[in-house]
Amino acid sequence: MDTIIAPPLLEVKACRQSYHKDASADLIVLDDVNLSLHGGEIVGLLGKSGSGKSTLLRIVSGLLAPTAGEVLWHGAKLRGPAAGVAMVFQSFALFPWLTVQENVEIGLEAQGIARAERERRAEEAIALIGLGGYESAYPKELSGGMRQRVGLARALVVHPDLLLMDEPFSALDVLTAETLRTDLIDLWSEGKLPVKAILMVTHNIEEAVLMCDRILVFSSNPGRVASELRVDLPHPRNRLDPVFTQKVDDIYGLMTRRTTPGRAQAVPAAVPIATPLHPVSTNLLAGLIETLVAAPYDGRAALPALAAALQLEADELLPIAETLQTLRLADVAEGDILLTEDGRRFAATDTEARKQQFATALRAHVPLAVMIRQVLDERWNHRAPALRFRDELEDHMSPDYAEETLRAVISWGRYAELFSYDEEADQFTLEDAE
Ligand code: ADP
Ligand code: MG
Repeated sequence: MDTIIAPPLLEVKACRQSYHKDASADLIVLDDVNLSLHGGEIVGLLGKSGSGKSTLLRIVSGLLAPTAGEVLWHGAKLRGPAAGVAMVFQSFALFPWLTVQENVEIGLEAQGIARAERERRAEEAIALIGLGGYESAYPKELSGGMRQRVGLARALVVHPDLLLMDEPFSALDVLTAETLRTDLIDLWSEGKLPVKAILMVTHNIEEAVLMCDRILVFSSNPGRVASELRVDLPHPRNRLDPVFTQKVDDIYGLMTRRTTPGRAQAVPAAVPIATPLHPVSTNLLAGLIETLVAAPYDGRAALPALAAALQLEADELLPIAETLQTLRLADVAEGDILLTEDGRRFAATDTEARKQQFATALRAHVPLAVMIRQVLDERWNHRAPALRFRDELEDHMSPDYAEETLRAVISWGRYAELFSYDEEADQFTLEDAE
């Protein structure tokens, strides 16, 4: 790509985003985020779920005004939705009652472009993205990959200076996702994409290394740009190239780097129960422990190698590893995972003892589980509506994260027989609990 000395297309300066919860505290999602983006580059924002990536994209697009800091777009302070920025979402967000052609034209209607011109440009975008012939099809007649192509065409049809993509491939199956990534990069390399720069959010390390010129690694709680990496490999990139795999390893290291040396945990949330949990099944947790304790790992593994061996993507493996870390069954640092004494003990013991050990770990390290159990113990009928905890969580996180967190604690609490959960009544209970 050409090196440009012109002012950046986009500058994010000292942006902070907090959500108001209650009188006592605000949830700080982004803090002191700085980044700039020039024409000719594809930049990746890589971070764990909940780190504030989508929030940052909404700020960049002008849909959300930051609590503090500013966004400069073409050198001018952004107020309201930015002209020349288009967004592609993870879920396809198409109108089911409109054809492909009409779904793409929607992008232009707001601009007051005459009908004939709209039609011509939509056809062009549809052809470019490989959907020629499907103009009059409806979304329900298309595969997921084709629907996402429509989403891309709708963004491209406005010839935006900046294309924002929020995990655009994560809802697709592996092969479809790879085809779409490759097609997009081919178009970009050939100079056929009518955009000046791309900012894409992903939690997939390989995807970032495959597509981006620059990768900004985001830290969580609060989200900020923790480190930056360049990927100078020419396109098309080969995932098996040692330079490629080295970059992937480096990023694993950055993403699991300890911020405070010697500390086993990420910074705890201000409100302990408000730590988002990943709904990782206890089967997966036990499976990873068993894998780790056995040869060739003997209790310690490099995460990239482990991901390859288990055929998991980073964003599948990291939540499992982090959950083990939360429960102090393993320690994750600098791209490695290592079983703790407790982890080894868990591996060596039988089902009953495992459940007990798991219960102990929940009581010690998962404040939400402790709170649920406490409420149940105190109530005369030992039942409590899940709604009450869902509400509490939603004060500190979005409804989606609250639901995932609740699902996690339900499955772990059941396994540990710390409490049960009655689906029908949406209530926690002490039935069958120890
Ligand atoms: P990511 O895209 O990295 O997964 P998000 O930007 O979606 O992260 O969310 C970052 C954090 O902000 C999460 O903890 C989420 O629960 C919280 N959050 C997002 N939107 C809201 C909202 N409208 N109200 C309260 N919390 C929110
Ligand atoms: Mg997101």
